[in-house]
Amino acid sequence: MDFELPRDVKMLQNLVRKFVEQELIPIETQVNLQEEIADEILKPLQEKAKRLGLWLLDVPKEYGGLGLSLLARCVVREEVAKTKALPFRHNELFGPIVGPILYEGNAEQRERFLLPVLRGELRVCFAQSEPDAGADPASMRTRAVRDGDHYILNGTKRWITGADKADYAQVICLTDPEKRARGGISCLMVDMKAPGVHLVRNWPTMMGDAPWEIAFDHVRVPVANRIGAEGAGFALGQKWLTQGRVVGHGAWSLGVAQRALDLMIDYARQRVTFGQPLSERQAVQFMIADSAMEIESLRLMVYRTAWMHDQGMDIRDASYMTKIMGVEYAARVVDRAIQVHGGVGLSKDLPLEYWYRQLRSLRITEGATEVLRWRLARNLIRARG
Ligand SMILES: Cc1cc2nc3c(=O)[nH]c(=O)nc-3n(C[C@H](O)[C@H](O)[C@H](O)COP(=O)(O)OP(=O)(O)OC[C@H]3O[C@@H](n4cnc5c(N)ncnc54)[C@H](O)[C@@H]3O)c2cc1C
Repeated sequence: MDFELPRDVKMLQNLVRKFVEQELIPIETQVNLQEEIADEILKPLQEKAKRLGLWLLDVPKEYGGLGLSLLARCVVREEVAKTKALPFRHNELFGPIVGPILYEGNAEQRERFLLPVLRGELRVCFAQSEPDAGADPASMRTRAVRDGDHYILNGTKRWITGADKADYAQVICLTDPEKRARGGISCLMVDMKAPGVHLVRNWPTMMGDAPWEIAFDHVRVPVANRIGAEGAGFALGQKWLTQGRVVGHGAWSLGVAQRALDLMIDYARQRVTFGQPLSERQAVQFMIADSAMEIESLRLMVYRTAWMHDQGMDIRDASYMTKIMGVEYAARVVDRAIQVHGGVGLSKDLPLEYWYRQLRSLRITEGATEVLRWRLARNLIRARG
């Protein structure tokens, strides 16, 4: 058994770590994280990243990207998470966010959607959740009915990140209400400027994000805009979410937890109360030790799940575990780090309060932790026959 990262991944880790330390951590306090990072901050950073070869990391080589393994992507995400200079959901530092769905299109769709997204000319959002279907997306009501070479789309999607900036929405919708998740859900690329598409309102949240509610009122969508076969949309949505649980939740939480622990130790060493540094107090030492244990087990889980994916193994259950461990362990580490820092920990001078809000939110979004536990247990029980 080899616990060392491959040499090329280690080199990448060092490169990104340096970039984060030199370029991002110094500007952390200047960034007022709302929904998006300002262009005048992001663009020069993107240029520097490009010069270092850090561009389109997860894009396959055939489309001009680096085609990194999931393990390498996790290592990069872990490093980038150590700063709050980038908003959680708009991390376009290393190129536009594509998501796995657009790669599933046919050659003509890749020309129309994928390549312009990679060039930064087109933006897409992912629209699965609805007012009455979030944790249980298969109960969705948004429906597309075939009308010749078009679908007529009706329904409402809610909590859609970036819908106001998107040119197209990847809408996961019912095409056969009888079958639902078993072949009755499809994925349509819906032009956000098409007649009948309405941005109803946005929902500002504690994360700083303000996702949107979109109404579709008899929107005509060409059949040529359906990605994948009719009925294949549910699996496409799940594919998006599975990788997100490992990189976006697991690896991101790992990086956050590691920096929170580093901050906690540094502060405990220098802060003196009642004549002694905090680092001499057993109560504080226990917080440090508990945090270190959780980080170590999380790191093993994230790296192993990514490695399993890269070997072509099924990571469904492992991705549930990775997300739950990530968001819960990191939340505990950040909570302890705030406690050790006292008032400073609550202030916006440090990234801790931002991470605290993010991690609270991530226990709900893209798979509530109860639902993931339930699915995990169900799979384990079934596997025992
Ligand atoms: C900031 C933000 C951004 C988002 N971005 C997007 C996006 O871009 N695209 C998109 O499609 N969606 C997006 N979402 C939606 C998000 O994924 C959903 O909010 C999430 O899936 C939960 O759905 P819900 O809010 O309807 O909760 P509900 O489905 O109402 O569930 C509420 C709670 O009930 C509990 N629960 C539910 N089912 C079970 C069960 N079986 N067992 C035990 N407990 C259960 C859980 O605790 C859960 O938190 C976003 C949400 C937020 C807040």
